[in-house]
Amino acid sequence: MNKWEKMDKDYIWHPFTQMKGWVENPQLVIERGEGVMLYDTEGKGYYDGISSLWVNIHGHHRLEIDNAIKEQLDLIAHTTLLGLINKPSAEFAKKLVQAAPEGLNKVFYSDDGSTAVEAAVKIAFQYWQFKGQPEKANFINLGDSYHGDTVGAVSVGNIDVFHKAYKSLLFPTYKMSCPSFYHSKVDGIANEEAYLAYLLSELEEFLQVNAKHIAAMIIEPLVQAAAGMLMQPKGYLKGVRELTKKYDVLLIVDEVATGFGRTGKMWACDNENICPDLMTLSKGITGGYLALGATLTTNEIYDAFLGEPTEYKTFYHGHSYTGNNLACAAGIASLDIFTKDRVIENLPPKMTVIAKYMKKMNAMQYVGDARQCGMLAGIELMQDKKKKIPFDPALQMAGGICQAARTYGLIVRNIGDVVIFMPPLVSTVEQIEEMLKKLEKAMTTVLSKVGNGQHYSDPCAF
Ligand SMILES: *Cc1c(COP(=O)(O)O)cnc(C)c1O
Repeated sequence: MNKWEKMDKDYIWHPFTQMKGWVENPQLVIERGEGVMLYDTEGKGYYDGISSLWVNIHGHHRLEIDNAIKEQLDLIAHTTLLGLINKPSAEFAKKLVQAAPEGLNKVFYSDDGSTAVEAAVKIAFQYWQFKGQPEKANFINLGDSYHGDTVGAVSVGNIDVFHKAYKSLLFPTYKMSCPSFYHSKVDGIANEEAYLAYLLSELEEFLQVNAKHIAAMIIEPLVQAAAGMLMQPKGYLKGVRELTKKYDVLLIVDEVATGFGRTGKMWACDNENICPDLMTLSKGITGGYLALGATLTTNEIYDAFLGEPTEYKTFYHGHSYTGNNLACAAGIASLDIFTKDRVIENLPPKMTVIAKYMKKMNAMQYVGDARQCGMLAGIELMQDKKKKIPFDPALQMAGGICQAARTYGLIVRNIGDVVIFMPPLVSTVEQIEEMLKKLEKAMTTVLSKVGNGQHYSDPCAF
C-alpha cells in the first residue's frame, strides 16, 4: 500500500461506496491522465471507460481546456454572481443558450447536477404562486428515476436502494411507471409500441384528474442512467412533452447525464425535437474538468419572477460558488471544441462499434439485455435470461466483471448487475473497439465461472 492509499483509507469516506470493503481491499491511486487514458502511481494505464463517472467529454489533459483555465487563473479564480458580473459566466450563458433547444433563454448557475435539479424544482413550484395558481404544487416523476442526492433531488428520485431510507424526510410525488419496456411489470403488453401507448395513456388519465394541482413533471430524457441505463420507447419524450403542454404542467428535463452529446445528439431533447420548460445540466458541462451546474429556462418562467424588491418575487436561491469563473472558462472551451472538432458529427461510426458489441454481448448466456443509446451503454446480467431471473446480489457478478476489466486495463463501474459503458466522446473508433474487447474478455472470464459458488466480488461497489 503506498502512502496515498494509506492516507485515503485513513481519512476519506468515499461516495456510493461500502467503506468496509474499500479499506479491506487494494485500491488504485490515479496520478495523471492523457486523452482517454488514466495512469496510476505505478505508471500502469487504463482506459477511462466511464468518462470518470460520466463527466469527461474531450479527454483528460486537453490542451484547449487546460489553457482556458490557466488564462482565467491569471486574471481571477472566483468572484460572486451576487451583485457582480464576471466575464466567463456571461459568455458561457450566451453560448449555452445558443446551443440549447430553441425556447430556453435564461441560465441559472449552480454547483452540480443535484443543485441544478433543486433550483429547477423550486422555480417550477414558485412559478405557479406568481401565476396565481398556488394549488399547482405537486410533482410527477418516474419509477426508477434519479436526479441527485440532495433532499429535494432525492424527493423526485425513485431508486429504492438509494432512496428508501430517507422516505420520511422527503416530499411526496406522483410516480408514473418506469418507461423501460424490458423492466415493465405490466402483464399482457406485447411490444415496445404497445408499452408506449400504455405509458402515455397512464399519464394522460392521471393528468385529466390531477393536473390542476401539479406544478411539473420531471424526467430523465431517453435514458434513466443511474437506474442502470434504462431506455425509453421512441416517442415517449415527445409524448410526455405534448401531454404536459396540453394539461398545463411544466416539464423539467434532467439532461445532467444525457446532455453534451451522450445520446448522439447535443441534447437528448434533440432526438425528439422537443423543448422543455426547464432543463438541468451538469456532468459534461465543463468537459469533465470542474464542478458546475446550470438550470436553463424560458422567458415565460423568468418573467414571472420579475417585480419590485418589495413584491418579494426574487428567486431567493444561490450558492457561494455560483457561476465560478474557472468552471465557466472550462465550459466555454468545451463548447468551442464541440464546434471546432465537429464532435457530434463524428459520433455515428463510434456508436456503430458500440452497437456491434452490444449485439455480441446480447448473445452471451448470462446477458439479459445489452442496450445502447448513442454513446451510453448498459449490459444487464441475468442468471436466467429467458425468465429474467437475476443473479443473487451477494455474488456481485457485475462488480466482479468491472474488477476483472481493471486487470486488462479498463476502468468501468457497475450499477447493481448492470455494467455501465460510457467512453469519452473523443475516443476513436479504434479505442472504443479496444475498450469493448477488454470488457468482453472480462465478461467471458467471470461468466465462465458461474455456478462454482464463488464470489465474483467488488465488495465496495453497490
Ligand atoms: C448524476 C446525475 C445527477 C446528479 O448530479 P451530481 O452532479 O452528482 O449532483 C442528477 N441527474 C441525473 C440525471 C444524473 O445522472
